[in-house]
Amino acid sequence: MDSKTGFMHALKCRECGREYPLTANHVCEYDFGPLEVVYDYDRIKRTLTHAAIESRPKSMWRYRELLPITGEPTVGRQVGFTPLVKADRLAARLGIRELWVKNDTVNYPTLSFKDRVVSVALSRSKELGFKVVACASTGNLANSVAANAASAGLQAYVFIPSDLEQGKVLNSLIYGARVVGIKGHYDEVNRLCAEIAGKFGWAFVNVNMRPYYAEGSKSLGYEIAEQLGWRIPQHTVVPMASGSLLTKVHKAYQELAKLGLVKATPHRMHGAQATGCSPISTAQKAGLDFFKPVKPNTIAKSLAIGTPADGFYALRVMSETGGAADDVTDDEIREGIRLLAECEGIFAETAGGVTVGVAKKLIASGRIPADESAVLCITGHGLKTLDAVAGHVGRAAEIKPSLREFEALTAHDDHPLVNA
Ligand SMILES: *Cc1c(COP(=O)(O)O)cnc(C)c1O
Ligand SMILES: [Zn+2]
Repeated sequence: MDSKTGFMHALKCRECGREYPLTANHVCEYDFGPLEVVYDYDRIKRTLTHAAIESRPKSMWRYRELLPITGEPTVGRQVGFTPLVKADRLAARLGIRELWVKNDTVNYPTLSFKDRVVSVALSRSKELGFKVVACASTGNLANSVAANAASAGLQAYVFIPSDLEQGKVLNSLIYGARVVGIKGHYDEVNRLCAEIAGKFGWAFVNVNMRPYYAEGSKSLGYEIAEQLGWRIPQHTVVPMASGSLLTKVHKAYQELAKLGLVKATPHRMHGAQATGCSPISTAQKAGLDFFKPVKPNTIAKSLAIGTPADGFYALRVMSETGGAADDVTDDEIREGIRLLAECEGIFAETAGGVTVGVAKKLIASGRIPADESAVLCITGHGLKTLDAVAGHVGRAAEIKPSLREFEALTAHDDHPLVNA
């Protein structure tokens, strides 16, 4: 491994292909195209084998050669390797032969897939000498930056729309981060952060550090393939905010095939949005390769980005892989959350309800054929978005501490009181 670049080759413009040094920089100065990390795959191939990976600790860092840092990870070393659950009961309900749930609701330490991107971004920020880290967030990113910065001894500024769920706000404040609520949508938060990032010399994980940050999402794809016994699933359903996660899971599958770690079998990438903020799925359904920005209005606040930075690339990945997109209403989101909880015992946040609801539509319409196999990416925990389901899941029964009252209450329940 090269101590200056690790296994990275350069940052490269996704539009014109110009290469840049591996600094905190995210945009091409010629055409304003986004920069992406490119690697030296020939060198990676020499060390990254099944045996090497399987001998390493069960975290996202077992794929270290494919992650953009030059030394050892220093932040979030335990992140990742969340369970891939065979979801037979949900499969039966949705009418598909085989279904898996990649359960990132239990990611460490802040219960969402954002711990993956933050662990990479902060490890890289430390390598580049930053002392202050920051982000523009729809909630989960703020939680993860706040927690991981605290554990790394970095100072954190997190910027969020001021109307976020209480759970998401408290889960940033508790770590001592400076939490700034902006009276506006995420897209306005993001615009302000671009200005602040230009003026203050901070590591903004999803602005100037974005090329490194975004690569962390690939680990979700590596883990899915390894947990399926080193194969790529036929269908992967991914919730979309900026659209980055969808493009990076796709990149992960392609990299594993390129390195000979999986067979290059066809796979379709499907995208899920909330109807109240569906710029990408609306464009996909209309057969367009560009989206129209929207003003978000949905309970799926973690996905509420009206001008998605990677929307164009997400559309391209869906089109190239033969995937589809769809979107669901707030009621369908709640129904999706309940379905996953009742069938599999997994309590997801609103983004999970979006993914389950959209998967249901894609299967019902045949866009995911019923005799094939799919993986749902469930990306955040339901305990952080209790506001979304409060008042929609019934109420606990209330009785006196009396056996008579309990028997009266359950007299008409259809399950037996005694095991036969
Ligand atoms: C951020 C986020 C996503 C999607 O992120 P992208 O911007 O599309 O990469 C999905 N689910 C949850 C819970 C999130 O917080
Ligand atoms: Zn360029």
